[in-house]
Amino acid sequence: MKLIFEKGAPGQHLTLLPACDVPEVTLSNARTEPLDLPHVSETELTRHYTALAKRVHGVNDGFYPLGSCTMKYNPKINEDMANLPGFTQIHPLQGEETVQGCLEVLHESEKLLCEVTGMNAMTFQPAAGAHGEFTGLLLIKAYHTHRQDTGRTKIIVPDSAHGTNPASAVMAGYTVVNVPSSPDGCVDVEALRAAVGPDTAGLMLTNPNTVGIFDRNILEITRIVHDAGGLCYYDGANLNAVMGVVRPGDMGFDVIHLNLHKTFSTPHGGGGPGAGAVGCKEFLAQFLPGPMVAKDEKGYHFTVPAHSIGRVKNFCGNFAVVVRALTYVLTLGREGIPEAAKNAVLNANYMMKKLGEKYAMAYAGPCMHEFVMTLVDLKEATGVSAMDIAKGLLDHGIHPPTMYFPLIVHEALMIEPTETESQETMDEVCQVFLDLWDLAHENPQALHDAPTKTPVRRLDEVGAARNPVLRYNAG
Ligand SMILES: *Cc1c(COP(=O)(O)O)cnc(C)c1O
Repeated sequence: MKLIFEKGAPGQHLTLLPACDVPEVTLSNARTEPLDLPHVSETELTRHYTALAKRVHGVNDGFYPLGSCTMKYNPKINEDMANLPGFTQIHPLQGEETVQGCLEVLHESEKLLCEVTGMNAMTFQPAAGAHGEFTGLLLIKAYHTHRQDTGRTKIIVPDSAHGTNPASAVMAGYTVVNVPSSPDGCVDVEALRAAVGPDTAGLMLTNPNTVGIFDRNILEITRIVHDAGGLCYYDGANLNAVMGVVRPGDMGFDVIHLNLHKTFSTPHGGGGPGAGAVGCKEFLAQFLPGPMVAKDEKGYHFTVPAHSIGRVKNFCGNFAVVVRALTYVLTLGREGIPEAAKNAVLNANYMMKKLGEKYAMAYAGPCMHEFVMTLVDLKEATGVSAMDIAKGLLDHGIHPPTMYFPLIVHEALMIEPTETESQETMDEVCQVFLDLWDLAHENPQALHDAPTKTPVRRLDEVGAARNPVLRYNAG
């Protein structure tokens, strides 16, 4: 496929700018060479982007079981609400009294999501989950510093953690201490007990964890950390399994982030805007980024917490994502939220059971919202790897599961169907998985060669990572 720069010809163009109706000024630092922009007609431009869109696989195209990413269907009403002119046609520097509706959105979202999570205050500034982790860790740091407890330099992270957890801890200036998992996939409590001490700033944990298991020792885990003087951070990316059923605040967590773009159904992937809302208990609220939204008899207004860590993003973060999440929460309501979580768990267990006929599971069920298969035996018997199976799925219009993650499982495929898939779809997908298993035994080469029906075949992923070509060279 040609790039937009390779299409068209000089003289073809589309006029986007209206005629100038103000006096022209000449800039002193204006460029002297004309900008090398594509010369394409509107027809060609439209066809170009439509062709690109056809090559993308999104949740609107088909099954997308990307574990830990919660690729659920995003109701279109969320888009309608986010597109209301009262939200889109405003300026971020407008006076508070002229944007009362927007402040109400932030205030209501804070109230409702605090109720879902068992927290007392929440900021919507962070733009993504990892950004939320970083912000949450700065809250933990501010808390210890404020108490002049300066010897706490370590953050404990289990070995099943998402890669962003240790990365965020390092970004926040901490040293990471890894604790191993037990054979059942949960935190090894004795190893945790041995790891904590007067240098422990906190623990980062997701529960259910990235292998889809709810840690039954969670209360003991958070108690061990608290007894050592540390705080507990909840990576809320996996809240989809438990929202409305149990609350991280009740499990003993002090600070959390939510991926509104996962659990609370706003489109994500491809680096699009997200929101890593950070919630905390009352005693940490004084450190939150400012401004926050407060309400008094005159209406809504901005306030800055007493010992705020400062801004982590301009304005109020990705506001339209918060509108979508609020729409989702209000649409589902008190009954719908736990029902969605329970269906997510039911769907994952349904697929786990069906695929378990042939594929080996890394951990015994039942699982929560996702499960991990290990294809070590298949690879030994046939030479077909988790990567080959994932590529085979592409030829059936199915997005592969998360591969080779978590790192503690070899030849891992991690499947998260979410609650928005029907039994019929899951049956079809399971049949494809089982057929690929048979194909691996009958004709492994066919899977080494897959995919054959996609616009491009296997890509040189290492080459792309080592020598990325990020810029079109017009020369
Ligand atoms: C997705 C995810 C994150 C990171 O979220 P981003 O929005 O991609 O930065 C962190 N932890 C877990 C468990 C996740 O699944």
